[in-house]
Order: sequence, then C-alpha cells, then structure tokens
Amino acid sequence: MTIIDGKKVAKEIRLELKEKVSGLKNKYGRVPGLVAILVGENPASQVYVRMKQRACDEVGIYSEVLRLPEETKETELIELIQKYNSDEKINGILVQLPLPKHISENKIIEAISPDKDVDGFHPINLGNLVIGKDTFYPCTPYGILELLKRYEIETKGKHVVVVGRSNIVGKPVANMLLQKKEGANAIVTVCHSAAKDLKKYTATADILIAAIGRPKFITADMVKDGVVVIDVGINRVEDKSTEKGYKLVGDVDFEEVSRKASYITPVPGGVGPMTIAMLLQNTYESFNKSLNLQHGN
Ligand code: NDP
Repeated sequence: MTIIDGKKVAKEIRLELKEKVSGLKNKYGRVPGLVAILVGENPASQVYVRMKQRACDEVGIYSEVLRLPEETKETELIELIQKYNSDEKINGILVQLPLPKHISENKIIEAISPDKDVDGFHPINLGNLVIGKDTFYPCTPYGILELLKRYEIETKGKHVVVVGRSNIVGKPVANMLLQKKEGANAIVTVCHSAAKDLKKYTATADILIAAIGRPKFITADMVKDGVVVIDVGINRVEDKSTEKGYKLVGDVDFEEVSRKASYITPVPGGVGPMTIAMLLQNTYESFNKSLNLQHGN
C-alpha cells in the first residue's frame, strides 16, 4: 500500500511554479497577480486566506488581500470585483466562501470575469469543463487529478466512484474524469445521500473519491481489495489529547481502509495541500492566457 503524499507533491508544484514565475519576471518584467477577497470575520476563512497569501509569496506571485466588513453590501462587493476584472496586475480573483447570508454567492461568482476565475466556479468555466473545453479547473478536483497523474495511477477504463455531488468537488471531479482525455477517460458513478445501499456502489470502485463531510464514513467493508482511495473530507473530531482539543480526520476510516487499499491519501496531508497549489497553478495559467491574448495568439 502506498500513501499518496499530497504535502510532498504540493511542494514540488510550488517549486516548479517558483521557477516558472521567475522566468516570466526575467522575460516580461511582470509576474502573475492574485487578489483574495474576504468578507466578515469567519476564522477558518481568515486562516485559508493567510495560507493562500503565504503560498503566493513563496512562489513569487503578486498578491493582494482585501478584508471587508461583515455588513458589506452585495452591490459594493460586485463593484470591487469589476474593478479587479479590469486591473492588469491581477490575473486571478478569488472570493473566499462562505459569504455572509445577505450576499448571494451565485451573483458574486458570476460577477468575476471567467478569464480571472481561478477557483473555476463560474458557470461558463464549469460549462466548458463539462463539454471538455480548455478552462480553469476547480482547485480541489484539479489537485485530485494531479495526484493521480503524478502517482501514475491509471484512470482510463477504470471505475471511479465519487461519493458527494457538491458543485466544488463531487460534480466537477466526476465530469473531469469522464472526459475522453489523458489522465481521465474513466467510467464514473456519482453517489449522494439518496443512495439506499451505498456499499453496493462503493464496493465496485477501482478508484473511490470520498467528498462527503462525515468523519470516517467509508469503512473497510465498503471497498474492495486494491482500491485507490482519495479522501477529500476534512472533519474536526474531539481529541482531548491535543492542544487544540480536536484533530482532523477524513471521510474514510484510514486505519481500516488502508489495509485493503493499493493507494490512499491521508488526512491531513493528502488532498488538502493540493488545493492551494492548484490555485497558484491556475493563476499562473491565467497570466499566460492573458499574454497570449496580448500577443494575438
Ligand atoms: P457538501 O456538504 O457540499 O457535499 C457533501 C456531499 O456528500 C453531498 O452531495 C451529499 O449528498 C453527500 N452525502 C452526505 N451524506 C451522505 C451519505 N450518507 N451517503 C452518501 N452521500 C452523502 O461538501 P463538499 O463537497 O463541499 O465537501 C466535502 C468534504 O470535503 C468536507 O469534509 C469538506 O470539508 C472537504 N473539502 C476539502 C477540501 C480540500 O481542500 N481538501 C476542499 C473542499 C471540501 P446530497 O447532495 O444528497 O446532500
């Protein structure tokens, strides 16, 4: 059994990007730019935004963080996004979710220019993803495909079972793996809470992707021998032995399931670190696309 080391792969990607960004700087005197917009005081969002900013600094991507008060109006936020849509220093705009209840997430996502939507959540980009056109992949699903690629795990003709159908993980990863492309071309089944006998589906998976949000929900009896397990879940469970009083576990019972798996991602240190690495990758790709447009390619 091989543990898929997302922390190591994410570091490799950041190092590769650092080199590429420094090449851009030498050639064009400019670097890619990312703005993160944070509305309100959500502590987890603050941590995520700080991590994203630190990662940008590490690879040499220019970053701005806009911290707005909880009572910011939807129209004000849209105006700010429009300003960044036409700001040449900025190639990626991310609005940290969740937003306060009085702001429509859909409206905000749709206000971001699809050319700068490095989270890959804009309906135009998701539509392009479904029909197999070049687009920004949402960062977590992109990270999953990158892990499978770098560990040389064959997906062509394999049965992938995705548990979870969210717009940010389940649906995009299922659609990406379905494409008739290198690193995809899988037979895909998507399960959700209406599945009466989940095990009936999960037990047939060559590759199982769990994006449920329930601690240790996938147990050893639900998978077959040799399965590849990608655990997207990040769940806090009480643990008095730790300083914080909790620990993070995935949607998969790692102890049990790892005995049957051929490959498995741990939590933490699996899919999690890949998400930010792919955000940087998307920002880099956005910069390159803008250069190609400027040079009429
Ligand atoms: P959502 O809550 O949006 O979606 C959860 C999905 O799981 C839903 O489709 C739901 O079904 C399904 N589900 C819930 N209970 C069951 C069940 N009993 N049987 C089958 N399916 C079930 O979650 P997200 O996709 O946003 O996130 C999933 C997990 O991944 C969370 O733990 C989250 O923290 C983590 N995550 C990690 C990221 C990372 O960077 N590693 C990034 C994003 C998320 P239904 O649609 O019917 O309700």
